[in-house]
Amino acid sequence: MVSVELGRSEDIGETARAATRFVHIQTFGCQMNVNDTDRILQVLAPHGWAATEDPAQAHLILLNTCSIREKAEQKMLSQLGRLAPLKEYNDELVLGVAGCVAQQEGAALLHKVPYLDLVMGPDHIAELPAMLERMKQGERRIAETELYKRKDFRFVEAEPREETKVSEFVTIMKGCDKVCSYCIVPFTRGREVSKTPEMVLREVEKLVASGAKEITLLGQNVNSYGKDLQSDDMGPLARRVPSFAQLIKQVDALPGVERIRFTTSHPMDAIDDLIALFGTVKSLCEFFHLPVQAGNDRVLEEMRRAYTIESYRETVRKLRAQCPDIALSTDIIVGFPGETDAEFEDTVRLLEEVRYDSIFAFKYSERPGTRAEKLGDTVPEATKKARLAKVLEVQERVTRDKMEAMGGKVVEVLIEGPSQRSAKGVGTNLQMMGRTRQNHIVNVPVPLGDFWSRRWVGKLAAVEITEVKSNTLFGRFI
Ligand code: SF4
Repeated sequence: MVSVELGRSEDIGETARAATRFVHIQTFGCQMNVNDTDRILQVLAPHGWAATEDPAQAHLILLNTCSIREKAEQKMLSQLGRLAPLKEYNDELVLGVAGCVAQQEGAALLHKVPYLDLVMGPDHIAELPAMLERMKQGERRIAETELYKRKDFRFVEAEPREETKVSEFVTIMKGCDKVCSYCIVPFTRGREVSKTPEMVLREVEKLVASGAKEITLLGQNVNSYGKDLQSDDMGPLARRVPSFAQLIKQVDALPGVERIRFTTSHPMDAIDDLIALFGTVKSLCEFFHLPVQAGNDRVLEEMRRAYTIESYRETVRKLRAQCPDIALSTDIIVGFPGETDAEFEDTVRLLEEVRYDSIFAFKYSERPGTRAEKLGDTVPEATKKARLAKVLEVQERVTRDKMEAMGGKVVEVLIEGPSQRSAKGVGTNLQMMGRTRQNHIVNVPVPLGDFWSRRWVGKLAAVEITEVKSNTLFGRFI
């Protein structure tokens, strides 16, 4: 999980000049929250709001929160505490909490935090302007966190930001119908609801028209896209709903889409028609994030993941048979309640065997209200720490081996912009950053003129890998 701050005054442009009020949003957690922040800015913009990076300038401050790990609430409370003094200087300032912690805590947050004005669950983003209007009319504090029933939920169609990036995300669905015992998402995001294919395709077209080259289709479990729309009560619409694999083909057919990625998938739904697309649909990148969580069947059963390690292995075998170049990544949870040393070693063995390109590994943390909470947090913290260190050490070795094997190879890189170091003005060597189709980051030195003209941004370039340094690839244009 990343923590991102998105107060984008650089995105303001014309909107800022016409704006009368400013919103400052701090975004925590996954890409879904980053996307929700975009939607919040979009629904506010027509009402004269623009984003600011400066909380002191803001008329509305929102913390868009994540509750997937523990301590999220404490973090949020201390951040609110830091922002609270701003209300002394601006008594019109609205201080709000959005995202998963808001959803989880609901109106109780207003009781806990006396200076908090607004608590908004992710389903209520479209109503934010109306809530602010209610406040203007005198309502002092508002909490809207009821999850909409599937049939009542409506997506806000996303519009491109003023500065469209080379690589953009398009949310294709929200929520999750799975019941993983450790996961809070079904409680904070509700049941699966898919966007209509028409809306998805329109959003992609608009992004491509404004400069995007790579589209990542986003959802908690994208593989089950459209299943809710295919139900009988959707009438004639149900007959027109593509499967996820068909949707990828439809996106691929749109002019200007150079690359397609998707995240996240459930291994149970990574079915043959999807696997068959790799290596055959030209714009679909050879990269699959396939979260396994644990390498042991008993633990997987307790996690209610609904697959076995053997069926997971079979999926990996099929993917590699279909597309030998495919890069795989995964999520791992160590120290799930009751996980023994031997069961943990099964996870280590799986890492050694599958040889992922990258992993995201976490210590188990108990989430209130989940089934796993009833199992108790039985693995001592020190054991969890040691297990986490072990999986990271194993993976670091595998990643290093894989990256070193890339030395001298020529790869296709989509150039996204200045490298992190160059953007911060660190070092004298100016570099652009891009990604391979397998999602490896590559830094490529460029002359001063090319750096400032940004002439490589958005280009698909052939790059020879010349150096591998601390898990970073460096190359040169050929
Ligand atoms: S599939 Fe993912 S989002 Fe859905 S319940 Fe399981 S872990 Fe949570």
